[in-house]
Amino acid sequence: MAKFTRDLGSYKILVIGAGPAGATAARIFADAGYEVDVFDQRPHVAGNCFDRYDEHGILVHAYGPHYFRTNSKELLDWLTQFTEWISGEYYVEAKIFERTVPLPISIATVEALHGKSYSEESFLEYLKKQRKFEENYVAQNAEEQCLQLVGSELYEKIFKNYTIKQWGHHPRDLRPEVTARIPLRINRDTRYPSETYQCLPKDGYTQMFQNILLHPNIHLHLSEKINSQDIHKMRTQYLFTMYSGAIDEFFDYTYGPLKYRSLKFNWKHFANTSFYQSRVQMNFPNEHEFTRCVEIKHVTKQSHSGTTICLEYSSEEGEPYYPMPLTKQEQLYQKYKLLADQESLKAEHPIYFLGRLAEYKYYNMDHIFLRSLNWSKEKLNTLGGK
Ligand SMILES: Cc1cc2nc3c(=O)[nH]c(=O)nc-3n(C[C@H](O)[C@H](O)[C@H](O)COP(=O)(O)OP(=O)(O)OC[C@H]3O[C@@H](n4cnc5c(N)ncnc54)[C@H](O)[C@@H]3O)c2cc1C
Repeated sequence: MAKFTRDLGSYKILVIGAGPAGATAARIFADAGYEVDVFDQRPHVAGNCFDRYDEHGILVHAYGPHYFRTNSKELLDWLTQFTEWISGEYYVEAKIFERTVPLPISIATVEALHGKSYSEESFLEYLKKQRKFEENYVAQNAEEQCLQLVGSELYEKIFKNYTIKQWGHHPRDLRPEVTARIPLRINRDTRYPSETYQCLPKDGYTQMFQNILLHPNIHLHLSEKINSQDIHKMRTQYLFTMYSGAIDEFFDYTYGPLKYRSLKFNWKHFANTSFYQSRVQMNFPNEHEFTRCVEIKHVTKQSHSGTTICLEYSSEEGEPYYPMPLTKQEQLYQKYKLLADQESLKAEHPIYFLGRLAEYKYYNMDHIFLRSLNWSKEKLNTLGGK
């Protein structure tokens, strides 16, 4: 077979990380006949999408709630090879003093906040009065972005304190992208995401990732951290490396560490309680130290006599979760990116950086799945097949 007429290294690929970025690439190359070694420092697959059964038998999302949604039929079809789906009942509410309002902002939010009904016209009129900047103004920070989109009242009551708790910074010190992702609906649609497909793997994310990685050409190594020195030693055995770990760590923090926001989770179980709260997620902008309370059983639809909730506290220390939306950090990342570009342009044994840590960017998982899917397919084309 042609496979054995060249170096073994010509057909082996190294993948660091078994999250959405790494698992997708590994599968695409394995399906095309390449041998793929996948390493993850954690004892499990699925990256931050990892879910597990807690000691009470409740399926929980270990690194914060993960709501799968996408506009891409192509991605949905690709993932459907590895899982069946249940529909995603993603509803989020915020406790605003004595009132509970649905998010994202829609006519229903303002109705719940004011205790009276609005027509589409009166809602638009309300927004017009509240807004602080013209439509064509280019917002300079998250506060301006929010005041431009939803106006003063909603900013003050719903966004301002939540943002401060979440990021440890005032919205006026944060980049406009923080609040630019927030949808505004001129209707009463209270589903949290806006994407066409909203669903959840029927047997959980971990099972779906195990199925993606179950392939005779994929060799999975868990609980193995591979640092940059290891990669430089190993790289010559591989055609190329796909790295989805932290970019600053890879370059030994040459320009200093990139800042991340982390989370602390406080889990509580309630026996003989079907549900603790009315929706999967309740946000608390103005009270408590925690930002939100998540009861994932609402979306997993697990049948169990008890329930488990998770209180989320934002933290400066801990696992890197969210890249900090600060201009200085973006500039620092760009310096690392130049080094990463040099690695990926090497003619022999290049290293490619892909994923939320490798690109220092918050992506929803569908974006990462798709980026990895498209990148891997393009890479296969340049390899010219085997
Ligand atoms: C709290 C929270 C909630 C979220 N909720 C949603 C949501 O509702 N919907 C949604 O679509 N997205 C959500 N996301 C985003 C989602 O988690 C990411 O888009 C996705 O996990 C990114 O995939 P990735 O492969 O780039 O990174 P990861 O999932 O982080 O995977 C990277 C893997 O690489 C491993 N690794 C890193 N460095 C090394 C090394 N040196 N050696 C070996 N292994 C290494 C890590 O252990 C990790 O397992 C959320 C993120 C967070 C933080």
